[in-house]
Formats: sequence, C-alpha cells, structure tokens
Amino acid sequence: MKNPNSAETTNPFDFVLFGGTGDLSLRKLLPALYFRHCEGQLADDGRIICIARSDLDTEGFRSMINTKVRQHIPDEHFSQSSWDEFAQRVFYMPIDLSTIDGYDELGKMLEGREDIARIFYLSVAPTLFATICEKVREAGLITEQSRVALEKPLGRDQDSANEINDQLAEAFSESQIFRIDHYLGKETVQNLLALRFGNALFEPLWRRERISDVQITIAESLGVGTRGGFYDQTGALRDMVQNHLLQLLVILAMEPPVSVDPDAVRDEKIKVLRALKPLVGLDAVENTVRGQYKAGAYASGAVPGYLENETVPDDSTTETFVAIRAEIESWRWAGVPFYLRTGKHMESKLTEIIINFRKVPHSIYETADGFNTPNQLVIRLQPEESIRMRIYVKAWGDDMQLQPVHLNMDFNDVFQKRQMIAYERLCIDIIRGNQTLFMRRDEVDAAWAWIDPIREAWEKHNVVPKSYTAGTMGPAAANALISKEGRKWYED
Ligand code: NAP
Repeated sequence: MKNPNSAETTNPFDFVLFGGTGDLSLRKLLPALYFRHCEGQLADDGRIICIARSDLDTEGFRSMINTKVRQHIPDEHFSQSSWDEFAQRVFYMPIDLSTIDGYDELGKMLEGREDIARIFYLSVAPTLFATICEKVREAGLITEQSRVALEKPLGRDQDSANEINDQLAEAFSESQIFRIDHYLGKETVQNLLALRFGNALFEPLWRRERISDVQITIAESLGVGTRGGFYDQTGALRDMVQNHLLQLLVILAMEPPVSVDPDAVRDEKIKVLRALKPLVGLDAVENTVRGQYKAGAYASGAVPGYLENETVPDDSTTETFVAIRAEIESWRWAGVPFYLRTGKHMESKLTEIIINFRKVPHSIYETADGFNTPNQLVIRLQPEESIRMRIYVKAWGDDMQLQPVHLNMDFNDVFQKRQMIAYERLCIDIIRGNQTLFMRRDEVDAAWAWIDPIREAWEKHNVVPKSYTAGTMGPAAANALISKEGRKWYED
C-alpha cells in the first residue's frame, strides 16, 4: 500500500459518486477532488462518475459544476486550465438508484476496469444505503478492489447502526468499508496524533498525575436553518457527540499505537470507547446538560429561537446543545474529568481542546492570580488552527512576580500555504485503501453503546432541555456542571 502521507499519485481508479448533484458532492467532495487533481495526486486514468436522478448528460453536468462547484473554490486557488483537465475526468449518468436498470448501465461504464480501485461513495440519504449495496452486489459490480464510503448518520442508536452495518456486510467485507467522520480528515486532528506521538515531550505529562481535566468544545454559530425537520429527529447528542466529540476524545486519550497501521490505531481507539464510564440512569442526569436555543442576537442581527423555526414542531424537546462530564476508567485517566460540550447558535464557531495541567505542588512564588490558572495546552481546530501553551514567567521588574503568558503556534504562519480541506485527505485515503482515519464497525458500535443510555435516562427521568439565548455559550446549567468541581470552561 502506498504511504498515505506521500504526495505520490494514486493508482488508476473509478470513483463512483452516488448523489453527485447533492450538497455534499458540490460543496465538498468535487472541490476536494479538484484540489487533489491540481496537486497532481490523481492518476491520469482516474475517473469520477457522478450519479443522480437529474436528467443531464455528461456535458450538461460538467457545465453545471462549472458554476456550482467552482463557487466553492476560492479564486486564488483556481486555475482554468487545471479545471478544464479536471472536468475531463468527470462523467455523469442519470440513474434512479432504487431500480435495478440503472446498475446495468453503470456496469457497462465500469466494464474492463475490474483490476483498478473502484469506489462507491454513498453521498445520498441513509435510507438508500442498503438498496445501493444490495443492487451493486446483485449487478456483480463489487470487485476485490472495490470500497464503499459513507457518512454519518450511521443509525440513530446501537440497533439501527447494527442494522446498517449488517446490510453493508452482506455486500462488502470490513476492509472495504470506509465510514467517514470528516473530523478525522482535518489537519489539526491529525496533528493531535503528531503532537502526542511525534514528540517525547508530552507523553510523560499525558496522564492523571499531571492533567487535572480536559475540555472539548465544538460550538456552531449557525442554527438549524432549513434542516429543522431532520435535526428535530436527531438532536445534538446523536448529531455531534456520538461521532465528532467522541472521536476527538478518543484521539486525545488513546494509548500510543505500535504503528500507523489502520488496525493498530483503531485497536487503541476502541479501548478508550470501551473504557468510558457508563452514564446510566441518575448518573446520566447528573453528568449531562441538555439545552435548546431561544431567540437571541449576534452583531449581524437578531435570530429566532429553535421553536420559532417553521420546520420544527412547536412543542419540540430536542436538544440543540449538550454538555457532558465523562470519565475514562483506565490507569492513565482514572478520575480525570473530560468535559464535552457542543451546540448550535452558540457565541461563535469554534472547536477547541483544552488540556488543564495540575497546579505546582508547592508555590514558592507570588503570582497575581495565586496560580489559579494552571499550565494549559489550548489546541484550536477552528476557525483558525493553532496550538498555545500557557506557562508562567517572571514579569520584568524588580520583584519576583510571576505572570502567565502564551507560547503561540499558528499553523497559517508556519506553513503559509492553502490548508487541505478534510475531504481531500479522506478521498485520497479511500482511493488508496488506507482505513486509518475511518471508523471500524466496533468503534461505531461502542460509541452508540455509550450514548444510548444517556438518551434513555433523559427520557425516563423526563429531562427537558434548558433554554439558552442564541449567541451565548449555552445554558447556565452547563457552567454549573463544571463549576461544582471548582472549574470553569476555558475562555480566550
Ligand atoms: P442532498 O443534497 O439531499 O443530496 C442527495 C443526492 O442524492 C442528490 O444528488 C440527489 O439527486 C441524489 N438522489 C436522491 N435520491 C436518489 C435516487 N433514488 N437515485 C439517484 N440519486 C438520488 O444530500 P447531502 O446533504 O449531499 O448529503 C448526502 C449524504 O451525506 C447524506 O447521507 C448526509 O447525511 C451526509 N452528510 C452530508 C453533509 C453535508 O454537509 N451536506 C454533512 C455530513 C453528512 P437527485 O434528487 O437529482 O436524484
């Protein structure tokens, strides 16, 4: 297998993009493939075959993406000649994926190319996943070099996720299945691995004896918009915690894998998921906070509350915010709280990980803040990517007064080039068949096994969301969750 980090070109491939006219394809996947094309990473003999029901031919599709994909590529990274070359790779077939006829057509398109990588990327509603898998199998399109890629939501609980995974398993082997959590394709998430396992500095500190608590925040500034109908059936716990938040927690907390081999990494990740202290019954009620945004305002203007969104039922009790105090029952982490929070219409768009180190055991110096703010590692994933280390230094002057300062590392300053979008890395890995950054079935299962009892406890104990004003960092109860242990959420 080729080194996933190398800039080498891929082997020839057919990338079949089911749902090629959809939002994800136009906004993320096709731009990602275009950027990789520009980097010379796609084999000359690499085709992108887009499929949807819209009545277009290849020329019509190419002309459509010329506007609809082009608008997601910043001018400074666009080259007309590269785009023209890229467009020649792109083909379109109008097929209704719920009927068998179209798959025979697709078969003709793929004929004679059985020995190259064949990707079936399911950028369609999850209700079509099973049908597509069944039909590509029946049509005899699955070769040894085939892979299938799919996105969240992978079910809405452990049982439904199992059902989807069973259906996938009827057509594909586990080594052919690429379950995407696009957070894992982000440069900074991979940098978490680099920070932890490429430096000797942090490992001795990365444990309960040195770390007091960990905070992970994924805050969105947008509300549910027109997706209220979907969102109301889902909520923040399923939409964000089961996947993105838990994946970040796992990467932070995992033991060093013996190599970057996909299963070596995923074997360590699953151990963390299995070591999460179950939150069941009243334990779940005490260690979680549900919230729902009400009308509020940003500098750009007022926004309506969740219940005022016309796509949301008037009496909805779906959470748009959740905060959780989690613990990992292992020698490394026993007793260290991991505070997680995520929500819609929060103060700003922000993804941030805070590692709070313990205070000095005995203070011989005076500080203005009484050493109340310990050493801190702040890893920011968005909006900009940076790593900051907070340390104490002696402030200039004639007395020995200590003051906290930040050692700053902004990735933009260091690398000064276009940052890859997450899907670039993920698409290349799928073409190459490297599964390191994709979720194995047992990971998805273990994540749901931890999430389901929380939701059940909310239902059983009638925990309704506390309201918070749009544009703030969530309900007051989320502050109380952390302040009862003498801590507070990190604020820049
Ligand atoms: P979308 O905009 O609704 O696109 C769905 C695509 O499927 C369209 O191209 C649609 O085209 C096609 N389609 C629907 N029924 C079809 C059928 N019977 N036969 C052939 N094509 C059919 O959805 P999306 O937002 O791109 O999301 C795609 C997947 O990614 C979903 O599983 C979603 O949960 C997941 N996802 C999306 C995002 C995102 O940012 N958009 C983020 C995370 C996960 P026609 O109607 O022309 O057939």
